Amino acid sequence: MTAAARALLDLLLPTTCVVCDARTSGGAVACALCWSRLPTLPAPRCERCGHPGRGAECSFCSRLPAFVRAARSACWVPHPVASGILRALKYDGWTAIAAPIAERMARVAWPADVTAERTAVVPVPLAAARLRERGYNQAALLAREVAARWGIPCWEDAVARARNTQTQTRLTPSGRSTNVHHAFRADAQARLDGAHVILVDDVLTTGATMAAAATALFDAGARIVSYLTFGRARSAAD
Ligand SMILES: [Zn+2]
Ligand SMILES: [Zn+2]
Repeated sequence: MTAAARALLDLLLPTTCVVCDARTSGGAVACALCWSRLPTLPAPRCERCGHPGRGAECSFCSRLPAFVRAARSACWVPHPVASGILRALKYDGWTAIAAPIAERMARVAWPADVTAERTAVVPVPLAAARLRERGYNQAALLAREVAARWGIPCWEDAVARARNTQTQTRLTPSGRSTNVHHAFRADAQARLDGAHVILVDDVLTTGATMAAAATALFDAGARIVSYLTFGRARSAAD
């Protein structure tokens, strides 16, 4: 569709918020009120994993491989607003919402060393079958936007899917871990040597997928990996 046709369509069809159906202005996919209701993660109590609720014994950290320096997320999931925004990005084709999502992700606070040495942003790749069906990788859209805001490169193809994995949704945590093990490959790359890579995905649930992608990057030469996601799943202990 041309820009002119899109503009005409916008006149004919008032844009409504993907979450609450309220009218939005300026072509916004979600309204300002919904964005203001996003359940943002409070200041981290655990400096490494960014978790707000845990003290010295951090069970979330125990899921992170040793070479993962830090993990940060913008908001909790599931939540009516956060889930509605993610559904719009992943399933309803509203790719324009990647920019305001990434804006929130790019703003999260990091330990000073992460901010100082982050080399590039790398998206978690989507399985080939899902990429064909969706037409885009939502993590890549977010990674590009975050990288642009930080002024560092986005290495979209630094890590790839080695084989198709079944969807994680119905698997137990240990089943998830087995399912994604060796699911990614990142052949040795000069650019990865000594790099501190920020691995980006839409949601951090058990961390199994990100750990598998991070391990591939580490094995291919990256020195440190940190995680950045929009949503973080609460665990039973939260
Ligand atoms: Zn709304
Ligand atoms: Zn922690």
